[in-house]
Amino acid sequence: MSIALFPGSFDPLTNGHLDIIRRASKMFDKVVVGVGSNTSKTALFTPEEKIGLISVTVADLPNVEVAIMHGLTVQFMAEIGAKFIVRGLRNSKDFEYERDIAGVNSALADVETILLLAKPENQNISSSMVKEIGSMGADNMVKFVPRVVVDALKERLN
Ligand code: ADP
Repeated sequence: MSIALFPGSFDPLTNGHLDIIRRASKMFDKVVVGVGSNTSKTALFTPEEKIGLISVTVADLPNVEVAIMHGLTVQFMAEIGAKFIVRGLRNSKDFEYERDIAGVNSALADVETILLLAKPENQNISSSMVKEIGSMGADNMVKFVPRVVVDALKERLN
């Protein structure tokens, strides 16, 4: 069985992340969305809140699971039996960053990194941008994040 890990901060989940999850779910038998527990960025949502938001959003994808990650990525992958890491690429900055991490991970363990290109309409979406414009009307926000995330952002930012 091919198992892939899609690790990230997901603070919060965006339509860009969701597109990568959907596409990965067609490529692998199982996709585990791994929510980082020890991010250095100041998080707006707790790992548990992120799990809730992601779980509701991917409820229609039977082969997608959501989990809180702990330890090194490759250690967590060994625990869940994943051989593939999925990451999304928006631009050349993402590419440089992902290339370095992929190199380290493949030196540490027998894992393969699969980089999926962001769709053009998602190329400018980032969690930090979403947090900045989170006070915009819901009609604007649904272009960037799933509806449950719009509601959670409104509650958190107001
Ligand atoms: P991290 O802090 O680990 O980069 P993020 O939640 O910011 O966590 O991103 C997780 C993954 O999703 C990364 O591979 C990132 O490049 C990818 N990603 C982020 N935004 C988008 C987007 N709009 N379209 C496609 N991939 C994206």
